[in-house]
Amino acid sequence: MSTMSAAVFCGDGRIEVRRQPLPTPAPNEVRVRLQGCGICASNLPVWAGQPWFEYPLAPGAPGHEGWGEIDAVGAEVDDWRIGERVALLSGNAYAEYDVAPAAALTRVPDGLADRPMPGEPMACAMNIFRRSDIHAGQRVAVVGVGFIGALLAVPLSAVASAVGNELRLRHEARQRGEPVVNDPHPVGPEDEPVETDQL
Ligand SMILES: [Zn+2]
Repeated sequence: MSTMSAAVFCGDGRIEVRRQPLPTPAPNEVRVRLQGCGICASNLPVWAGQPWFEYPLAPGAPGHEGWGEIDAVGAEVDDWRIGERVALLSGNAYAEYDVAPAAALTRVPDGLADRPMPGEPMACAMNIFRRSDIHAGQRVAVVGVGFIGALLAVPLSAVASAVGNELRLRHEARQRGEPVVNDPHPVGPEDEPVETDQL
C-alpha cells in the first residue's frame, strides 16, 4: 500500500509526523500532491491543546489552506486533469496529499506558478469585498489587520492610489485652467487634492 507523511496534532503543542495510507479519491473527488498549506488563525487553539478538541486529530487535520498539483481524479471527475496546479479547500492538508471534492478546487494562474497559493484565505478576502460592497472612492477601515486584513489592504491601497492620483491629476488640470473631461464627480475649484495616505 502506498503511504505518505502527515502531521498529527496530539494536543498541547505536540505535533508528530506519521506514515499514513495515501488517501483514495471518491468518485467526485480529486487528490492533490500538496506543495504547502497555510496556517489559519483558527488552527492555533487546536495546536495549543484546548480541552474542547479531541486528540489526536485525524492525520493532516486541521489543514484547510493547501495548494499543489493534482495527482489523481475520481471516476466521475471530468473537469480536472492530473498535473494541474490548484488551491483546494480540504480538511487534512498538513500532509503530503489530501483529497477534496472537485467543486472545492480552483486553478492557480500560470503567472503564479512559483508562488505559495493558500486559496481559502484569499476566497475569504474576496467574500469580504463582495459582502461589504466596497467600491473605488469609498473610505474604508480595516479593523484588525491580520493575514486576511493585510490581503484586503493590498487592493484597497491600490484603489486608494488610483483614486488619489485621479483626483490629483484633475485638480492640477483645473489649476492650469484646462477642461476636465469625463468627470463623473465634478468638484469645485476650491477643493484640495487628496493625498493617498488620507484616503
Ligand atoms: Zn483558514
